Amino acid sequence: MERRRIAIRGIVQGVGFRPFVHGLAARHGLGGFVRNETGGVLIEVEGETGAVEAFLRSLEASPPPLARIDELSWRPSTPRGDAWFTIEPSEIAASDRIVLTPDAATCADCLAELFDPADRRYRYPFLNCTNCGPRFTIVTGAPYDRARTTMASFVMCAECLREYQDPRDRRFHAEPIACPACGPRLVFLDARGIAVEARDPLAEAIAALHEGWILALKGLGGYHLACAAGDEAAVATLRACKHREERPFAVMTADVEAARRLVAISPDEETLLTSRGRPIVLLQKRAKPRVAHSVAPGNPRLGVMLPYTPLHYLLARAMNGEPLVMTSGNRSDEPIVYDDADAIKRLSGIADRFLTHDRPIHMRCDDSVTRVTAGAEAPIRRSRGSAPRPLPLPIACPRPILAVGAHQKATFALGRQREALISHHIGDLDHYEAYRSFTLAVAHYERLFACTPELIVHDMHPDYASTRYALERSNEIPLMAVQHHHAHVASCMAEHGLAEPVIGVAFDGSGYGLDGTIWGGEFLVGDYRGFCRRAHFRPVALPGGEQAIREPWRIAAAHLLDAGLDFELLRARVSEQALAALTRQIERRLNAPLASSVGRLFDAVAALAGVRDRVAYEGQAAVELEWAAENEMASEPYPFALSGDPIVVDTRPIIAAVAAYARLNRGARVIGRRFHATMAEVVAQVCARMADATGLEKVVLSGGVFLNALLARDVLSRLDRGGFQVFRHRLVPPSDAGLCLGQLAIAAAADESRRINR
Ligand code: ZN
Ligand code: ZN
Ligand code: FE
Repeated sequence: MERRRIAIRGIVQGVGFRPFVHGLAARHGLGGFVRNETGGVLIEVEGETGAVEAFLRSLEASPPPLARIDELSWRPSTPRGDAWFTIEPSEIAASDRIVLTPDAATCADCLAELFDPADRRYRYPFLNCTNCGPRFTIVTGAPYDRARTTMASFVMCAECLREYQDPRDRRFHAEPIACPACGPRLVFLDARGIAVEARDPLAEAIAALHEGWILALKGLGGYHLACAAGDEAAVATLRACKHREERPFAVMTADVEAARRLVAISPDEETLLTSRGRPIVLLQKRAKPRVAHSVAPGNPRLGVMLPYTPLHYLLARAMNGEPLVMTSGNRSDEPIVYDDADAIKRLSGIADRFLTHDRPIHMRCDDSVTRVTAGAEAPIRRSRGSAPRPLPLPIACPRPILAVGAHQKATFALGRQREALISHHIGDLDHYEAYRSFTLAVAHYERLFACTPELIVHDMHPDYASTRYALERSNEIPLMAVQHHHAHVASCMAEHGLAEPVIGVAFDGSGYGLDGTIWGGEFLVGDYRGFCRRAHFRPVALPGGEQAIREPWRIAAAHLLDAGLDFELLRARVSEQALAALTRQIERRLNAPLASSVGRLFDAVAALAGVRDRVAYEGQAAVELEWAAENEMASEPYPFALSGDPIVVDTRPIIAAVAAYARLNRGARVIGRRFHATMAEVVAQVCARMADATGLEKVVLSGGVFLNALLARDVLSRLDRGGFQVFRHRLVPPSDAGLCLGQLAIAAAADESRRINR
């Protein structure tokens, strides 16, 4: 006989860990107890050594679905002769290490109950248990219990209370526990947002969808706009109503089989699709998918997600195999609508009907978006289902640090010790509503995780709203500014736990450079503590700044001028006056900042190749160039030149070759394919020179340009042939949405050296 005292840290509270341990101990015939403690769980077990060992093995091998064991340690203790195993009441003080799990998709047990006519929760849209259901979006404070969720106002019925208090029940301490007798209820509203007297609001909503109406649907992290995805008229109306919106819509299918009828799904992609976080996964469309053309016009891929709440299951299964369009309830780039009154104000005029309910959403949270690129996950947006799960930091924060991220695709991160708590997706801070959402979310995270920053790290760009936010708090909290591309590289390093110096390749649309110009085609050597810009693309004027981003022909014209070529290619599409005005603007350097941006170079090539001259969202021309090129056979790179120290990548020969091809009408497929190959060759050759000079062989790829899967594949295989060890983003997006992680790692390193030097 022996007794062991086992301490566990990680995500082990509010995830059904204690009842799980209880069951496991009982199965192995062990006595003892389990209880929650600050920052973890404490277990004491006693019994025969073999049984204790087996208990520990299965505990580590298969913890409950939502749990994550970060640390498990044990020491021997004196046997007390415990014959039974008990769950002891917890004494959790306000913790310095509060852990909160993301919202999780309905589990298999709950799903079975949902469709079991004999179950008391049959077809109840809000059923959940300790293994699934809402978490982050309904939590109002810490520690996590029902009183500090938006379920606080619902009084449990006797039956729910019994389950909640029974350690052997799957719903033991399931804080959002609910049933038809005591929990939230659906409400059906008309186009003006007035409640319609309906015996079965769900049936009304299903009928509305079948009739081709647009339904505003209150989900987990906000409102979606939904309609039948096969109904061209409904989808086109939805697109028209969402204003200037050309981005593809995502669809929800009832299950993987239904998804397979629309898209091809590899085993890795299926794993993502069915994961508990239930992200939108970008998948290759089948030849003739049965969805309306305007769901994702011109796009070879389709964003697909599976149901993640009981309500979604009920709706999706009622569609008889037809997918549902599910797009964020908002206009253009505004954050997703989550407040009921606000939803009616903003979405009436778009939605024909509303299906809502009386469980408030406390924190809005957009859907996550991800995909598989070259055999690994390449996240595009890390939000619902992932936030606020902490990521490990390579360096411990000596004191709590807030990293405020960038400006578009805003996210922020709180650093405490070795953890980065990365926020959900907040959106484009140009919108006042997004900025307000940003400030509220920062305050919420600080309160929720009892983490008051003692240092704020921000981008060097003086006009980022996040920088201005940091400045507003600079009276109380010291600030630190970090260069944009250094943060990109550090973000990818941090993901992989790299601490040694690396070659960092950061390609994006724009970031504030150390010399006041716009950077975005950068090769850095460095680590968290600092970097050196060893190579970059040739800076070219960006005439009109923002205007050039909206009208890529302007960037094409600037590149033609830079390469000493004429405007012949553009004359058919652009007026002589506009071209003359643009030339003057560049010559006199009037609002024509220099940019070494690879994102803009993609725009220029796309415009020259005839993809498009104007875009509805940043990078659209580059994205369409990728679509055009992705099925072409790999081809030889265009000529380019490298010279100087730092090395400058001369883009003039590339532009000359692209222009020559375009004049021969070679088309975007061929021009685009060669251009991608060229960029991979540039990366490989520059990295080879940097490796010769430094002896480094680890290359880190970051920046929004690497969302381009064709480019990522080309660069990976070319660097691989060059013998490099290549690291890319797998946990956070390569875009500015992942920037806060890099800022945090840099600040933690700087803060640590500061402490050591003092
Ligand atoms: Zn469940
Ligand atoms: Zn109940
Ligand atoms: Fe960036």
